[in-house]
Amino acid sequence: MKNIINAKKSGWTNISEDERKNIFNLAESYIEFLNKSKTEREASKNIIQKLEENGFQDITTQSKLNPGDKVYYNNRNKSVFAAIIGKNKLIEGTNIIGAHIDSPRIDLKPNAIYEDVKLALFETHYYGGIKKYQWTTIPLAIHGVIVKPNGEKIEINIGEDEEDPVFTITDILPHLAQKQYEKKIGEAVDGESLNILIGSIPFETSDSVKENILKILNDKYGIIETDLYSAEIEVVPAFKARDLGFDRSMVASYGQDDRVCAYTLLEALIDSANDNTYTNIAIFADKEEIGSYGNTGMYSSMFDYFVNMILTKTDSNFAGALTEVYCNSKMLSADVGAGVDPNYQDVSEKTNSSYIGYGVELNKYTGSYGKSGASDANAEYVAYVRDIFEKNNISYQVSELGKVDLGGGGTIAYILANKGMDVIDCGVPVISMHSPYEVTSKYDIYAAYRCYKAFFETAKKVNY
Ligand code: MN
Ligand code: MN
Repeated sequence: MKNIINAKKSGWTNISEDERKNIFNLAESYIEFLNKSKTEREASKNIIQKLEENGFQDITTQSKLNPGDKVYYNNRNKSVFAAIIGKNKLIEGTNIIGAHIDSPRIDLKPNAIYEDVKLALFETHYYGGIKKYQWTTIPLAIHGVIVKPNGEKIEINIGEDEEDPVFTITDILPHLAQKQYEKKIGEAVDGESLNILIGSIPFETSDSVKENILKILNDKYGIIETDLYSAEIEVVPAFKARDLGFDRSMVASYGQDDRVCAYTLLEALIDSANDNTYTNIAIFADKEEIGSYGNTGMYSSMFDYFVNMILTKTDSNFAGALTEVYCNSKMLSADVGAGVDPNYQDVSEKTNSSYIGYGVELNKYTGSYGKSGASDANAEYVAYVRDIFEKNNISYQVSELGKVDLGGGGTIAYILANKGMDVIDCGVPVISMHSPYEVTSKYDIYAAYRCYKAFFETAKKVNY
């Protein structure tokens, strides 16, 4: 009898020398990608550049599409869809993998610059689920765009170069923190105190520190204060992504949720065979961390628009075709899950948890409390996905986020499931998720790449 007990084991225990090399090589290029992709705009740009280097063309420039053609759609520089056209008609179904490229961070308010106690600061509004206390007293970098009324766009990136200055959010010294210590941890640092220190020298003639900062910004970028109305400036940790541990087995970095899945998805799509039966589609979404709203989030019709373009350009569009494509499609929602944290094990129910280094994580369902808001994959579809992993010898673990009544979460899975396709969550387990310094295992990163590639290269039907 073979393996009747599920013997969960670290993926590192049984790998070949070749596999180890592949794991470390992929992690190295992933770290490079992370260091130049700290915002959704930077990630989009780097994803499109890599797609173009590998023969993908802007779909809006193509009038007809044939099997093997590779296309992408740039959605407002903040989200990207890419596809390799398969041999089958689109209505017979597609293989879709969707990750997101936005991460929790701190945004500047439109009226950002102010002066107090002779210091200049930025007013901010945090984005996504952050533990605010984690963002004080660390080096911060400023990334984003400022668009002038005449359309001129100025790209900002300060704090990443060794030569650059950095920025920071201050915190109370322990000597005077008695009142802060008495607060609950979630209230110890409130949203309105996440102000970023940006200068301290007063302007020569007016004695205004704010004016001096505006003068510097005007000299360097040609902008005036109101230009920040039409800007998207994101403040992110200035740390670099690094190897973690004496054995260099892990990656520590900001923004791994969800660029770890986005990057492995990008590599998997590019490396997948382009004579596939089904059309393969990769989604790199924006706004997942704040509910997927807006025209760059997955709730928008932009993905329908992309699939409709493929239908039309492959001469297979008709009334109702889009719904038929979705009902016959299969999807992996490529998003991170929670790895068991050795310091905080009591939030995990260990029989149903994922461990870093044990392979990709499948979440049959997400949601909170009584599975509220869950996208629950059908058993038949879970079997379909298991079969791919097991045939390709890919390590996977099936888990939940954490203990039943402690909270919960979700991904873009349910949005696509609502369109009629089969969807399951499948990604990399992370420790310290949403913090300025998230931890992943290089073993799992490589496992994600292999599973996404295998998913794209599989041509069979779900056995309902
Ligand atoms: Mn995520
Ligand atoms: Mn997240």
